[in-house]
Amino acid sequence: SYRKGGYHAVRVGDPFAAGRYIAQRKLGWGNFSTVWLAYDTHSSKYVALKIQKSAEQFAEAAVHEIEVLLSIVNGDPSNSKCLVRMIDHFKHNGPNGQHLCMVLEFLGDSLLRLIRFRRYQGLELDKVREICKCVLIALDCLHRELGIIHTDLKPENILLLSTINPAKDPIRSSLIPILKRPEGGALNGRPTVTTVEKKLKRRARRASMGEAEAPKPEKCMDGIDLRCKVVDFGNACWADKPFAEEIQTRQYRAPEVILVSGYSFPADMWSFACTAFELATGDMMFAPQSGKGFSEDEDHLALMMELLGRMPKKIAIGGARSKDYFDRHGDLKRIRRLKLTPLHRHLVDKYNFSESDAREFVGFLCPLLDFAPEKRPTAQQCLQHPWLNLKNSNQREMNVQSKVNIGMGSLKIN
Ligand code: ADP
Ligand code: MG
Repeated sequence: SYRKGGYHAVRVGDPFAAGRYIAQRKLGWGNFSTVWLAYDTHSSKYVALKIQKSAEQFAEAAVHEIEVLLSIVNGDPSNSKCLVRMIDHFKHNGPNGQHLCMVLEFLGDSLLRLIRFRRYQGLELDKVREICKCVLIALDCLHRELGIIHTDLKPENILLLSTINPAKDPIRSSLIPILKRPEGGALNGRPTVTTVEKKLKRRARRASMGEAEAPKPEKCMDGIDLRCKVVDFGNACWADKPFAEEIQTRQYRAPEVILVSGYSFPADMWSFACTAFELATGDMMFAPQSGKGFSEDEDHLALMMELLGRMPKKIAIGGARSKDYFDRHGDLKRIRRLKLTPLHRHLVDKYNFSESDAREFVGFLCPLLDFAPEKRPTAQQCLQHPWLNLKNSNQREMNVQSKVNIGMGSLKIN
């Protein structure tokens, strides 16, 4: 993609905006852009420099993203609403064309990295609550104050506030110093169980490469609040001017988007619920796949009904695409047998939630997963939910620990 119309190749030390910003290292990339850590010589601070691909359609998308980011700056002047802040924007000419660049406040790792770092075992519920509060504050501001739908909410697009000083610590991830990493392999058939041999080999390799060992758990500050911000407004839209029919990343896509029955703010609330579930369990709530005789969309609708119950007929047959999936009775045409497992049982049986943790979490999640979008609570209503202010989930910590022990068989964990 580093060709005419594509990404701009950056080298460490490259100057931008007449020398104001100096590139330091690459932070990440998306389909449309690369994002670099840069030093802002005006403010003497580190910033994230998002450099868009240069072709016309990418430039148009960046113009739109800048508009959204500007309206966030205006709508949240105190920068307290958990939305990424744009500091500046400019054009940069390079061999591949002219690139629109956004200067954003520098943030830390994404929640996706956090989930991976925790070996897909899920976070303690207290941490999930802290993250949920931040995301809801962001959604409330976006929806109610600005009239904007994010349309691509997912763990990858929620970044932790950075706890590192890039000058002192140029490569370390922001997670290492603050979070306890569980020992052993992950559960639920995702990454495999780490054997002792593998572990020793890894240690030897790390030592030979001079890599530091991960910090010991007791050194980790475990009580820290996890604060985060919502990023990536490349697909965001004003609710009164939705421009794309298909929005959202597959696994976080709301039923009304699949059925093409019209969407608005509640579509973000659906993605939010899927994200909260993933944070708490380490697994995606819905991971649909096409199969023999059915499409990914049909599998997705089936998975939703298996976990949340039958979709009301009126909703099932009410979308522009309904006929592709449902018969006139509101039953899926090509997936006839559903394996119903209510969310509560799923949390207890598969994820070892205690009965009370599961009941409380379901009480929070289920209303957000109503098939009728207009019945889902708003971000503002959700912020009032008692689950967000519950304390402590020791019980679940113990459950996770015992599950690890079971998963590890006779392996001893220190
Ligand atoms: P795209 O629209 O191309 O998907 P994103 O805005 O999602 O671009 O950014 C791509 C990646 O760059 C993110 O997943 C993240 O890793 C990193 N990133 C983006 N914004 C920031 C930021 N403000 N601070 C630190 N890293 C960032
Ligand atoms: Mg992105």
